[in-house]
Amino acid sequence: RPSRQTADERPDLQLSFEFFPPKTDAMEERFWESIHKLAPLHPRFVSVTYGAGGSTRERTLRMVSRIKTDTGVAAAAHLTCVGATREEVDEVVRGYQQAGVSSIVALRGDPPEGVGQPFTPHPDGYQNAADLVGGIRRIGDFDISVAAYPEKHPQSVTWDADIDNLKRKLDAGANRAITQMFFSNGDFLRYLERARKAGVTAPIVPGIQPIHSFKQISGFAARCGASIPAWLAERFEGLEDDPDTHALVAAAVAAEQVTELLDEGVTEFHFYTLNRSNLVLALARLLGRRP
Ligand code: FAD
Repeated sequence: RPSRQTADERPDLQLSFEFFPPKTDAMEERFWESIHKLAPLHPRFVSVTYGAGGSTRERTLRMVSRIKTDTGVAAAAHLTCVGATREEVDEVVRGYQQAGVSSIVALRGDPPEGVGQPFTPHPDGYQNAADLVGGIRRIGDFDISVAAYPEKHPQSVTWDADIDNLKRKLDAGANRAITQMFFSNGDFLRYLERARKAGVTAPIVPGIQPIHSFKQISGFAARCGASIPAWLAERFEGLEDDPDTHALVAAAVAAEQVTELLDEGVTEFHFYTLNRSNLVLALARLLGRRP
């Protein structure tokens, strides 16, 4: 099986790890501990999210700046344009540039009422993620990632509209797309096929969400429009008070997901770490990448 190959046979394997900016000192300690454990896996980048409506603007900048200087690993900063003028967003981009951050994950963001609610751009703001990508390109030579949705974005009326939007973001200058979490590999593979058929040639990197807590992850999934298949819910059923078995099932589920994708020829993976390293370290090993 292809998934049994080693890293040496897979020079094309590319990993990236997503973190969120910590709120407290204790959380910050865990954040750095995890980054230091994952950095030796030579990720393409470690990314740090941008809180809803830019609420973590300062913290995101502080974290990405330090990742680069402390670990030598490339850091990518997420950025959204919701609720901000172009000038405000451009200022954040220039801040990233001055801090030596050359990679940005460019997103529209969601209205404060939540995902799926109608989006109204700021009157002086970027209209959507494609518009934002264009703005970032005008400021500097950044490596830019954008979002993709294997189950369709909740606001895309049709599949064609969804893929057209992805194309607009890539045509505006994005280098790759990273997907929203998904739990049925079939959804990702069908999405890839649709995108390729529509002429998208850029990499579409699966976003892998290890299920550290089924309750928490199913809440996240519901909020972002990702579905939890019945078989997955059944695997975790009754494990709320059994953390050991829960952790083993989570590892098995994620291992199955990534090795299946590897067997399908996928060589780039983005992991939603939730600032934890254990499961991701194990999954990287299965993919053939060791520290
Ligand atoms: P867009 O690509 O602009 O599109 C969103 C929807 O609007 C699509 O349905 C599209 O079809 C439609 N649309 C766009 N333009 C038009 C148009 N001109 N006419 C009609 N319809 C249009 N959120 C955060 O707040 N912070 C983060 O750090 C963050 N990181 C993320 C990382 C990844 C990898 C992913 C997948 C998502 C992330 N998000 C983050 C969530 C993201 O902000 C939401 O999913 C948001 O709802 C859409 O953002 P987008 O960049 O995909 O928007």
